[in-house]
Amino acid sequence: YLVDDPNYSFLKDLGLDKKNVGVFNGKWEANGQLIQSFSPANGKVIAEVQSASAADYEACAKAAQEAWHAWAELPIPSRGEIVRQIGDALREKLQPLGQLVSLEMGKILPEAIGEVVEYIHVCDLALGLSRTLPGTIFPSERPGHVLIEKWNPLGLIGVISAFNFPVAVYGWNSAIAMVCGDVSIWKPSDTTPLTAVAVTKIVESVLTKNNIPGAVAALCVGGKDIGQTLVQDHRVKLVSFTGSTAVGQQVGVEVQRRFGRHLLELGGNNAIIVNSDANLDLLLNAALFACAGTAGQRCTTTRRLLIHKKVFAEVVSRLKKAYGGVVSRIGDPLSSETLIGPLHTPAAVEAYKKTVAEIVKQGGTIEFGGKVIERDGYFVEPTIVTGLPHDSPLVKSECFAPIVYCIEIPDFETGIQYNNEVDQGLSSSVFTENLGDVFKWIGPHGSDCGIVNVNIPTNGAEVGGAFGGEKATGGGRECGSDAWKAYMRRSTVTINYSGTIKLAQNIKFGD
Ligand code: NAD
Repeated sequence: YLVDDPNYSFLKDLGLDKKNVGVFNGKWEANGQLIQSFSPANGKVIAEVQSASAADYEACAKAAQEAWHAWAELPIPSRGEIVRQIGDALREKLQPLGQLVSLEMGKILPEAIGEVVEYIHVCDLALGLSRTLPGTIFPSERPGHVLIEKWNPLGLIGVISAFNFPVAVYGWNSAIAMVCGDVSIWKPSDTTPLTAVAVTKIVESVLTKNNIPGAVAALCVGGKDIGQTLVQDHRVKLVSFTGSTAVGQQVGVEVQRRFGRHLLELGGNNAIIVNSDANLDLLLNAALFACAGTAGQRCTTTRRLLIHKKVFAEVVSRLKKAYGGVVSRIGDPLSSETLIGPLHTPAAVEAYKKTVAEIVKQGGTIEFGGKVIERDGYFVEPTIVTGLPHDSPLVKSECFAPIVYCIEIPDFETGIQYNNEVDQGLSSSVFTENLGDVFKWIGPHGSDCGIVNVNIPTNGAEVGGAFGGEKATGGGRECGSDAWKAYMRRSTVTINYSGTIKLAQNIKFGD
């Protein structure tokens, strides 16, 4: 167990042990199966986590519902103060928590630390929100009447998260939902349970210090079964789901069946259009990280480069050279030398192998990479592909690995068409110096994605804007802008202080 290895002493700093309890309902108690958490860099067991049984889930839901009454009564700025303290507690644990994310998920340390920083940023954003949460007064057409829009918390919400952002996705939801007055049950990915336990311990420390019931932020480590239980639970007013499109579609239908609310953050198939006038130095710098970084395991990873025919050959050749410069830096994600870590699981390696074989079968050319790296852990070569048609089923699907398809476009307009022709609608980008094309790109006939960038890659969003995508990406929005609205219910209130009853639209009823 790596938890006993002095090289990984940061695990003990986070309160983790050989065997950990994966359920928190105010108390730590679990009766489900024992899950082993593996390091994708070497395939070794880090530690074990006892997951939730159905009864443990029930205890979480009951305790969270009970905790809600006191939590919702707290003034909003007081809830903001708790979230501010959570941000500070995360700052204190930034290094060890980043190291744990790197060890358990497999992304390189700077990105893992960046993910914790993202949670801290959302705490800052939520703190501001706690002083500015709006409610509007509208003019009434009736004398002596006023129309007020009043926002109230939803109550109990559920957060189901994916393996690839084991801290940030919870943070995006939790910090905003807490300020809004909701309590939550978190069902993290069952392949990143230690990160979920460590994050919940940090949140718990702040709640305990402030005499707030711990069940305000409940945790239920488990697999598909616990996810399904949560999705079907009528007490859960909002299910915020982050994961694959296939699972997200089932979740959306199930939640709709009971008229619950859902927020879906699903798969992407993100493209960069390289215009004929693009600054290629800028593009190549951006594309290397966007296509190969995080070993292709971001929902916003660039999977398609739509390159103008004038610069196609140059871009592919320079990209190959850039990839050549990073292969020696594939390795242990915790090492400062490393730029690209492993895939997360053996299943992901199999999916990569299958996709590469299918690319070759369908006449694609592997310009770079294409092989599994023979060493401990789940490492593959970042891969560049040419020669497949823009509408090939392979190009149109998301393989969660570092494979990028280079596709030639005759002009910018065709690039927009190709960008929009996939089912997913998460992130998109154009590299151009042409102002007219920029406005076409962000206009009604431009990109149909939720994230529409210019001269930056498809990945690396900030928390200030709303994050999410259209179409098969699910339509949900999280983080900044008015994303808080998903966590609250809206009442339109009409108050009559005129002393008489008047009907709207001047309707006369009776004499
Ligand atoms: P996944 O769909 O396999 O699992 C996501 C979560 O759903 C896990 O916690 C899993 O245990 C749970 N789950 C599985 N079956 C379920 C069911 N039937 N009911 C309820 N819950 C269930 O996804 P993954 O492999 O962990 O993550 C990768 C995917 O997530 C990629 O497609 C990626 O694009 C997407 N993603 C999207 C965003 C975004 O913001 N749009 C962010 C991160 C990841």
